[in-house]
Parts: sequence; structure tokens; C-alpha cells
Amino acid sequence: QGIASVSMFFMLLHILQTDAAERSELDHDLRTALRDEQFVLYFQPQLDRARRVVGAEVLIRWRHPQRGLVPPAEFIDHAEKTGLIIPIGQWVLQQTCAQLRAWKAEPALADIGLAVNISQNQFRQATFVTDVLAMIGEHGIEARRLELELTETLIVQDIEDLTRKMTALVQQGVRFSLDDFGTGFSSLSHLKRLPLSTLKIDRSFICDVLTDASSETIVRTVIALGQSMGMTVIAEGIETEAQLRFLASNGCGQFQGYLFSRPVPLAEFVEFVRRCNLP
Ligand code: C2E
Ligand code: CA
Ligand code: CA
Ligand code: CA
Repeated sequence: QGIASVSMFFMLLHILQTDAAERSELDHDLRTALRDEQFVLYFQPQLDRARRVVGAEVLIRWRHPQRGLVPPAEFIDHAEKTGLIIPIGQWVLQQTCAQLRAWKAEPALADIGLAVNISQNQFRQATFVTDVLAMIGEHGIEARRLELELTETLIVQDIEDLTRKMTALVQQGVRFSLDDFGTGFSSLSHLKRLPLSTLKIDRSFICDVLTDASSETIVRTVIALGQSMGMTVIAEGIETEAQLRFLASNGCGQFQGYLFSRPVPLAEFVEFVRRCNLP
């Protein structure tokens, strides 16, 4: 009995140590990544009902010198916990604003908007509003080209602070979208109170919208709800023409998914826009 629990103790200790070592290694690697600019932005097109590209969602990737292209699922949660998401998120916003500035001079790209994912931790920073406005000012871009994607988890936190920050940015022209809508617990009163311009229906509903009656009902309802509140409704994760037809015939305004394009590097995105948006 005694021996068993002692060896159990060492086993647990070993697991915890390995876990901690892996975590701090990731931490160290992420700091290096920031310093050496190993992060890169990918762009996933967002199309309107006429299949013209109106914008893109900006999605981060990590070009790891040994591991290759690392998806955000493998480091964003960790970065959230350690606070590294703050400099990473700042970097994403800076790069996005710089991109919007570069496109200002190109007629084919000047109208493209970019949507950036904002993490809870990042939004909670006291300087978030002034930081974003400073970047917009520095790059001399139109604020309405920038959309910030917030999730419902963030929405249900401190609603006073949230409303105040959102309003300050919206007054300058920045737009907000509620990401992964339907998966969290935001209420209708949140929707009414917050200055949102876009509702983004989560991929999980789109994925079985044609095979699952409750997903179908949810999707129809969210589209109607968004429309009645004067918001743009965008569906993410569209993979088939049949899903697109269903969404379009129910009034969905914008579309994003592998059916059109996966998230792609800058040059490919620009190429995609030129192909879709022929004059
Ligand atoms: P999300 O905001 O829900 O982003 C959409 C995810 O769905 C992306 O995964 C995208 O590649 C994927 N997706 C888009 N269309 C389809 C489709 O048709 N089929 C399928 N199966 N998947 C599709 P990705 O790029 O791996 O990003 C995962 C998550 O990582 C994002 O989920 C977002 O929460 C987070 N993330 C990405 N970039 C950033 C960032 O810069 N900052 C923060 N805070 N989070 C980020
Ligand atoms: Ca998103
Ligand atoms: Ca999403
Ligand atoms: Ca999602």
C-alpha cells in the first residue's frame, strides 16, 4: 500500500513536471516567435450574395522553424493563459492595419474590409480602445475597414466595460461582429444593447444545416433575428453549394468557407480577389 502510493506520487510528479516543462518550452518558443517574426497572417475571403469578395477574416499561423506551419488551435489557448496573447494580438492588429493601408492605393483592394479575432484578455486591457485608435491613426486607414470579432464568452463578462469600449470604437467607425454565434450564452438583451454590426453563425450549425432539423431552425432564426436588428449576417464554414443555396435563400448576407477558399497567404488572397471581383 505504502509503496504503491509512493510510486503513484512520483508518477504524478513526473507527469506534472513534463507537462510544466512542455508548457514553459512553448512559452519560450512563443516569445522567440514574436521576436523573430515567425507569425504570419492568412486571409479567408468573405463574399456577398453576388459572390464578390467584400472582406476577409484574418487568421494567424505560426511558421515554426522545425514544426512547420502551426495552426492557432495549438498555441492561442496557451497564449491566453500566459498573457502572451496581448503582444501577439497587438501584432495581428498592427499587421492588419498596415495591410489596409497598403491596399488603399489599389482600386481593386481599397474596399476590402478585414475582420480580426480579439481575445478576451486582449479586449480587457485598459488601453485597448486607445491602442486600436492609435493604430488606425498611425496608418491613416478608414476605421470602417476594420471589424473586430468578439465571442460570446467575452460578451457575458463585464457588460458595462464592454459596452463602454465598444461604443468608443464604434463612434470612430470601427465595426464589431459576434463570432461563433449560437454556441455561447449571450442573451437577446445583450444583442440589443451592444453596438454590433455583424452576427456570425457558427460553423457547427452550417455543417449540418441540411441534415439536422434543429440546426436548420437555428440558422433560419439567427438570420431573421440579425435582419430585424439591421445587422449583417455572415455564415462561416460553408463547404457545399447546397449549404450556400439554403443560406442565400433564407436571406443570409455574407458567406465564408472552404467552398470559396481556405484561409490563404496574402498573395493568394489578392489573386482570389482579382479573379472574383472582375470589373
Ligand atoms: P474562428 O474565429 O472560429 O475561425 C474560423 C476557423 O474555421 C478557422 O480556423 C478557419 O480556418 C476554419 N474554417 C473556415 N472555413 C471552414 C470550412 O469551410 N470548413 C472547416 N472545417 N473549417 C473552416 P483556424 O484558422 O485554424 O483558427 C481557429 C481559431 O483560432 C479561430 O476560430 C480563432 O478562434 C483562433 N484565432 C485565429 N487567429 C487568431 C488571432 O489572430 N487572434 C486570436 N485571438 N484568435 C485567433
Ligand atoms: Ca473568428
Ligand atoms: Ca468563428
Ligand atoms: Ca467557430
